[in-house]
Amino acid sequence: MDEIRELYQEVILDHNKHPHNFRSMENADAVLEGFNPLCGDHYTFYLRFEDDAIAEVSFEGSGCAISKASASIMSAVLQGKSREEADVLFELFTGIVTGKLDPVEHLEKLGKLAAFAGVAEFPVRVKCATLPWHTMHGALHGSDSQISTE
Ligand code: ZN
Repeated sequence: MDEIRELYQEVILDHNKHPHNFRSMENADAVLEGFNPLCGDHYTFYLRFEDDAIAEVSFEGSGCAISKASASIMSAVLQGKSREEADVLFELFTGIVTGKLDPVEHLEKLGKLAAFAGVAEFPVRVKCATLPWHTMHGALHGSDSQISTE
């Protein structure tokens, strides 16, 4: 777990400073807002599909380092994934940050996402890390109202 802890620090600091895909998208197929009132994290997510795959994910808004890093990594990881693959990653990610799944058993599929296993040690931050994923999941499954963690 020491390696995951180091990765956690590194990945979160880096993506918070230089978030990937941090912009709006004019030709998005799905636009959904995510809000975590506990922390004040508030983002809009944009998804564009090609056939049945996610061609592009971007986001804008503001929030804490963990939520922003999570949104940044999610936007990069989901590019080119099918809806089914995105659902699998959603289950894996929410599983490791809530401590229900052991990240070590899923390292290959998780890749950089494994860094967020560190969040399981800080229960108040779990909603910050999962907000982007819950919003994306809502967008994939046709939700058109704001996703809130509360
Ligand atoms: Zn937060």
